[in-house]
Amino acid sequence: MVTLTGTCHCHQTEWEVAADEFVHILCHCSACKIIGGGAYSLNIVVPIADCKVTKGELKTYTYKADSGNDTVCYYCPNCTSHPWHHQKVQGEKYVVRTALLQGSDNFKVAAEVYAKDRYTWQPQVAAASFETVPPPS
Ligand SMILES: [Zn+2]
Ligand SMILES: [Zn+2]
Repeated sequence: MVTLTGTCHCHQTEWEVAADEFVHILCHCSACKIIGGGAYSLNIVVPIADCKVTKGELKTYTYKADSGNDTVCYYCPNCTSHPWHHQKVQGEKYVVRTALLQGSDNFKVAAEVYAKDRYTWQPQVAAASFETVPPPS
């Protein structure tokens, strides 16, 4: 396991995430575009037990996902950086925003999800691409 530190933009909050390997999974869904203000978000799915806040406190914002289940987004109350969210449908796992972790420029791109919502000008960059989400493994 590797443990990496994440930091929000204003440095009032910090967190640690542990995983065997860190990769980026691109998500092209409309919620990611609106929340992140970009063409897609970068993520990895990690057990909640392997994620912890080490400085400050995060606030939450809850919305209904396409599935009808609640998604709880965790964010810095000062600068709104968003370290992870909890899709209740995923069980005891967080979807962690990989771009906020140290060394993220060296992570490989593993897959793309919600390719059906990819901007038409955005090329596919991962070999594995799923129209919505991959089948459970
Ligand atoms: Zn902050
Ligand atoms: Zn998304």
